[in-house]
Amino acid sequence: MPSMRCGNCGRDDHVQAIPAVYDEGRTSTSGSYRGVGIGYRGGGIGVSHHGGFHQSTSMTELAAAIAPAPQTTSGEVISALFFVEFLVAIMALLSLLVLKTGSSERISGAGIAGMLFLPLFSVALLVFIGWQIVKAFRTRSLVRKGQPRAILLWRAGRYCFRCGVVTAESGLFEPLEFRQLVWNQGGYGHLPR
Ligand SMILES: [Zn+2]
Repeated sequence: MPSMRCGNCGRDDHVQAIPAVYDEGRTSTSGSYRGVGIGYRGGGIGVSHHGGFHQSTSMTELAAAIAPAPQTTSGEVISALFFVEFLVAIMALLSLLVLKTGSSERISGAGIAGMLFLPLFSVALLVFIGWQIVKAFRTRSLVRKGQPRAILLWRAGRYCFRCGVVTAESGLFEPLEFRQLVWNQGGYGHLPR
């Protein structure tokens, strides 16, 4: 068990482990539920009252400032992007077909510009959404790979509510500095939050 003393003030009465601070800082935006369940707990089976969160979670500034990794795009959002990509692909294909059949007729310059707009727009959109999907996958795999390394460093940190300072093995840090240290350790320090 590492010392829970703050490296700045030397006291331990307002000091909490980073994972605990982080968990407490994540709260539900859309309400909680309570229920009774039977579960296995502490070596025995018993009835427990439990609460839980549904919908998305929001974070306090402090929790966000010490998050162990950036938030990555969820599987649902990626699926939605794939669906939109599919629709845009159809739009691009149809507009290109229309362009092909229409190109044999004589049309004015403005007419050509008008006809080119939709195919160009849909192809650009196709590329843009495709790029977002690639980026989301890359970020997810980068974070997934590096997080175990980063977590070790993250877990060892402790936060002093009196000083607003994180004490880590390598010294004292502002929360955001500490987060950068952890993210760098995970190999995703260059990612935006
Ligand atoms: Zn302190």
